[in-house]
Amino acid sequence: MRIHAIQTGRVQIKQAQIKGRGHGLWRQLQPVVSREWADWVPVYAWAIEHPEGVIVVDTGSGAHLKSLPRWHPYFQFAVHFDIEPEQEVGPQLRNLGIGARDVKTVVLTHLHVDHDGGLAHFALSRIVADRGEVARAAGIRGTLVGYLPQRWPSWFDPQPLSWQEARCGPFAHSAPITNAGDVIAVATPGHTPDHVSILVHDGERQIMLAGDTSYLEETMLSGTIDGVSPDEAAAAATLAAIRTFCATHPTIYLPTHDPQSAERLAARDTVAVR
Ligand SMILES: [Zn+2]
Repeated sequence: MRIHAIQTGRVQIKQAQIKGRGHGLWRQLQPVVSREWADWVPVYAWAIEHPEGVIVVDTGSGAHLKSLPRWHPYFQFAVHFDIEPEQEVGPQLRNLGIGARDVKTVVLTHLHVDHDGGLAHFALSRIVADRGEVARAAGIRGTLVGYLPQRWPSWFDPQPLSWQEARCGPFAHSAPITNAGDVIAVATPGHTPDHVSILVHDGERQIMLAGDTSYLEETMLSGTIDGVSPDEAAAAATLAAIRTFCATHPTIYLPTHDPQSAERLAARDTVAVR
């Protein structure tokens, strides 16, 4: 199985979003009120060349994100996007020889704007997302908590993940993505309540496409909660579950915005849990 890291532009956020400061509402306000910007970080989407067809995990950013609703404090004060149309996931897949019809499935870890920003390129694919995440992102309520459902393509009607009853190691639930069972979604609540990560079983190793479970491998290892997660305990439990998983399975851990993600994938670098 070949996995491609596709960088769809970059995003600039505050340090306090990457590494949360303080607790409760205070922590969640810091990404907006703090003045300390982090360096620009990449926005990755992933393409898995699988015998059952190409699977795309997250659709990355879109050039439309250079203009954001100014009435929203997060969009006005806490984030900037840098992306040109040719850096969107569709054109980059075409450069890899992967056409729209080759992409059988698109899985969304969550529906934040830099994960669903390239949906328009996938009108011909099966789109899969968690039902609770879609409900949270929809409508005016979704817009108030930082989603942009009004920019979803009119045809967007994702298929819900089919969660299995049984636990999956340290994770509460898993849902198959392929018939072969070698690509699965696991529940990683925290950054959003219904956030999921994708595990790809690739020979000896597991590849974890972790979305925004943490912004960096380092913050997963240290158990540092981000500035976004609404429920600190849930986020901490997920980071602990990932450390348990990585301690028992050689895992390449790939968050969407970790500047080292593409390098770790290329070098097949697994997490060293201390
Ligand atoms: Zn996010």
